[in-house]
Amino acid sequence: MKTAFRIALLPGDGIGPDVTAEAVRVLRAVETRIPGLALNFEEFSIGAGEYLKNGHPLPDSVVDKLREFDAILLGAMGLPGVRWPDGTEMTPQVELRERLDLYNGVRPIYLFHPNDSPLRGKQTGEIDFVLIRESTEGLFSTRKVPRDPAANRATDTMLITRAGAERVIRAAFRIAAGRRNRLTLVDKANVLPSMAFFRQIFDEVAPEFPAVQTDYAYVDAAALYLVQRPESFDVMVTENMFGDILSDLAAALVGGMGMAPSADIGDRYAIFQPSHGSAPDIAGKGIANPVATILSAAMMLEWLGTAGCKQGAGMIQAAVRQVFADPAARTRDLGGRLSTTQMGDAILAALP
Ligand code: NAD
Repeated sequence: MKTAFRIALLPGDGIGPDVTAEAVRVLRAVETRIPGLALNFEEFSIGAGEYLKNGHPLPDSVVDKLREFDAILLGAMGLPGVRWPDGTEMTPQVELRERLDLYNGVRPIYLFHPNDSPLRGKQTGEIDFVLIRESTEGLFSTRKVPRDPAANRATDTMLITRAGAERVIRAAFRIAAGRRNRLTLVDKANVLPSMAFFRQIFDEVAPEFPAVQTDYAYVDAAALYLVQRPESFDVMVTENMFGDILSDLAAALVGGMGMAPSADIGDRYAIFQPSHGSAPDIAGKGIANPVATILSAAMMLEWLGTAGCKQGAGMIQAAVRQVFADPAARTRDLGGRLSTTQMGDAILAALP
């Protein structure tokens, strides 16, 4: 069985390099604890910074190279001040999902300590669900179609294809089957024909997974229920833009963007990255919370899938749980005093 893996590192912009550095330290420590495991990192520059330096945020040569790696670990990309002439930002992280066909955006949300939720009285583990965001079509699908600058209108298309919907819905069912067997479809099927089609496909796929209980929530109601009763969710699946928005709301329930890991998974490739962006408001201050990226690194090990990698993923999750059991061990976003590297140190010290 394979024990040596090539990992592409894309630190990106803003706080990206700070948080990926901590994830790499933790991965290196895991590597020394698992006999035979070798993680060989190679770093690439993509993002708004790369555009400012060399004129392209995502050179084709880098995309081709990335296909040679076993997995990709990404920090964050984009800076609000660096834009294309049409006013949109550089979003190489979105483009990578499309070019590597990473349709399954997996976003686990877990409350490690009651103090970290803005909701009253939620206990450790009481908020524990996975949001699945379709990541290659939906309302992002026409984002690259140029707008006619002379026209007094602009449109974006919600693209739902049968193939695109089936594969992400099946992936969501499989994840639910490995958890508490509940899957909620989040849509807007009451208003949008594209969403009614998404629901039709959900209903067609559901009989393949008879053990999984299903229900539906319109996206507006889903936002309400996530705040009122987040414990009622196990796995949710939705289209790209709704998933983008709800995943920030979901992150807020467990302490904010610094606590929300993610994986963008396709049939061949996968990228692991925090759900957050480059956080320019705190970049360069050494105070970003690296936990989302460290948990994303654990998801990467889980996905690599060997016994050693899975053991490593378990070690990282156990270490984060142990650190978070002490409410004083927090970065500033969670009301604590730890710097980015001090949080990394605490997790390293807690590794079994
Ligand atoms: P953001 O996620 O960067 O920040 C939102 C808020 O959360 C800010 O207050 C920020 O300080 C805080 N935050 C985020 N990550 C944190 C962390 N690890 N520790 C502590 N606090 C953290 O979202 P934004 O401000 O809307 O976007 C900033 C830039 O990032 C934009 O250019 C945007 O396009 C880009 N972006 C990139 C990605 C990605 O690379 N996957 C995702 C979202 C946004």
